[in-house]
Parts: sequence; C-alpha cells; structure tokens
Amino acid sequence: MAECPLDLHGRPLGVLRLSLTARCNLACPYCCPDTEDPPGLLTLPERLALVEATVGLGVHTLRLTGGEPLLHRGLEELIAALQPLRRREPGDPRGALREIALTSNGVLLGAERARQLKAAGLDRITLSLDGTDGASVARMAGLGGAAAGGAVLEKVLAAIRHAREAGFDPARGQLKLNAVITRSGNADQLLPLAALAREQGLELRLIEFMDVGNRNGWEPEQVLPAAEMVARIGAAWPLEPVGRAPHGTASRWRYCDGGGGPGAHLGVVASITAPFCGDCNRLRITADGRAFTCLFAATGLDLRPWLRPHPDPAALEAALRGLWRERRDRWSEERASLSAAAAVSGARHAEMAYLGG
Ligand code: SAM
Ligand code: SF4
Repeated sequence: MAECPLDLHGRPLGVLRLSLTARCNLACPYCCPDTEDPPGLLTLPERLALVEATVGLGVHTLRLTGGEPLLHRGLEELIAALQPLRRREPGDPRGALREIALTSNGVLLGAERARQLKAAGLDRITLSLDGTDGASVARMAGLGGAAAGGAVLEKVLAAIRHAREAGFDPARGQLKLNAVITRSGNADQLLPLAALAREQGLELRLIEFMDVGNRNGWEPEQVLPAAEMVARIGAAWPLEPVGRAPHGTASRWRYCDGGGGPGAHLGVVASITAPFCGDCNRLRITADGRAFTCLFAATGLDLRPWLRPHPDPAALEAALRGLWRERRDRWSEERASLSAAAAVSGARHAEMAYLGG
C-alpha cells in the first residue's frame, strides 16, 4: 500500500481535485470565473506526473474540474492516459487510482462527447444546474435573459440524457446534479429542482453559497442554511437521514416514498452552517500547477519547479508530502467562530474557478 502521510490534524490524503482551466462558458455570479487562463498551464505529461505523485501519497479519487473542464480539449486524452494507474493491484506499494469523476455545467456535453468520456474511462459525472426555468438559470449563470437561460437549461437536460445513454448510471451514483442555492437568487427553485431530480432518478446535491474568492459579493444573509433546505423539501416529500460518508462533503437523505428510485437521494453540502473540516481529505491543484490544501486558502504551493523542464517524480512526491504533513487548514470551522462582519472581511481567498470547487 502507498504510505499516506497525515496532516497536523491527523487527516489522510484521499481526493485530488484537479482544475483544468479557470475559464468558463458561463458566468455564475457566485463563482465569477476568469476570462483568460493564467500563463503556463500544465501539460499532459506534467498532469500525469502530478496525479501519479498524489496517488503515491494516498489519493484514490480524482475529480476533474475547472472553470469548465469540457473547454479543455485534452480531457479525454488525460483520462485515457490515467488508466494504467487504475489497473494497479490492491496493495501495490505505489498506490492505485480507484475513480475518476468530472464536475461540469454540462453545456458542452453532447452525445458524442459523453460517449468519448465513457470510452476514455471516466467513472462519474456531476452536472451543475441551479434552476428549472429560463429566468432562474439565467440569473444564476450570469446570462442576459430568460431566453438565454432557457437555451442553457435545454442543453443541460440534454446532457443528462446523453450521459445516461453513454452508460453513466444514476442508480449507481455515476450521474448526479449539483445546485448552489442563494437566498435571493434561487431559493424558490428548491422544490422544482428536487422534483426534476426525482423524475430523472438523480441524486441532487444542494450546496450552501460559500465565501470562496473575493469577487462574488458573499454575505452571510445570502446563505440558505442546509437545514432549511432539507426542511422545505421534506415538507413536500418526507425524508429520512442516511448520514455523511466518511470524508464525504454531503449529508444525505432518502425520500420516504421511494420516489425517484435508488439513485434519487438528496444531499446537502453545509460547509457554512455545519463545516466538516475535521474530516477533509482533499487536495486541490490549479490548472497552472499550484497546490492548495483548503478551498478557502489564499495561496498555494507552486509545483512547477518540480515539473519543469521535466517532471522529477521523487522531488515532486517529497514536496507534496511535506505540504500535506504541514497542513493545518480548517477555515470553515474557524469561520463558524467569527462574527458575521469578521467572516466577510476576515480573509482573502483564491477564486473558485481557479480552485475548481
Ligand atoms: N464549471 C463546472 C460546474 O459548474 O460544475 C465545474 C467547476 S465549478 C467551480 C464546481 C462546483 O462549484 C459547481 O457545482 C458550482 O456550482 C460550485 N460553486 C461555485 N461557486 C460556488 C460558491 N461560491 N459556493 C458554493 N458552490 C460554488
Ligand atoms: Fe462556470 Fe462552474 Fe463557475 Fe458556473 S460554477 S461560472 S459553470 S465554473
């Protein structure tokens, strides 16, 4: 087995979130993506070296994200090139990658792309959708009006169909829906989104609006607490708790009426009102090769010195091991102890689309 270092709070490394670009084809105001990527994006061999180094330190799950990862032309090639890490035997001292997942807004997920991703070896897709009508989607995705929102909605609904037809099975957790909920933006979409997910047999993950980045105008008043989301949906369709998986981000609920079938759980990600830092096993690497040990961190470790001109696997692994061993972040839990004003002004964070969520 790969030897997994523990951080200063005794947490192992398990999940790598790799951002492939900070750019996006949408402009969700809670995220505020970049219009340009920073110079010096990582190359395919550099990304492979990075993933392999983190697998050696305990990473078993890779999530590809952005910005919008479907904008990255080398996505399928990267997934295919990672397959040898998947095929390692249990107990291999170099570790093994068990799962490759993707988070996407789905706009570019046509039938052919979904098939290509499946063929390349992608295991799971999470699609993000914050409303079920054109006006709500437009508001949450930063689009001009209801017609533009309606067009995006149609594409995401088609993406759900294409992913399912390509073989991503919601009943086996291979296709899920994410929605960020803000009090004044789309709180009225809770029931419509839950109804859509039940109809489609999908797990819906409702995410509290987080104070990631410095430009999304986050205010505590805009956060709809997860408990309130669960209460509102539970009043329409009674729910029973399933709990939070070890190292998971979502607390999960099952519909008592069995509506939507085995895949249609409800998950809530309550990183503001019920932080789960104590259990966090995630490392984030940006498209230009900076490693962040917390979603709310301001700075990351630039890994390019160990990647250029050629990847140096031993030095890279040593740098990452040192970073993880020194990790002490627990920003969400610390925020919970701050006053609202201090939480707003307290820290500068890297932007969400740079870190990849
Ligand atoms: N573009 C892709 C997408 O939207 O799924 C992947 C990148 S996006 C940064 C990853 C996830 O972060 C999305 O589900 C998005 O809704 C979520 N997200 C972005 N900004 C957020 C914020 N301020 N608070 C909570 N979740 C956020
Ligand atoms: Fe783009 Fe995703 Fe950010 Fe929305 S949340 S702007 S889709 S990167």
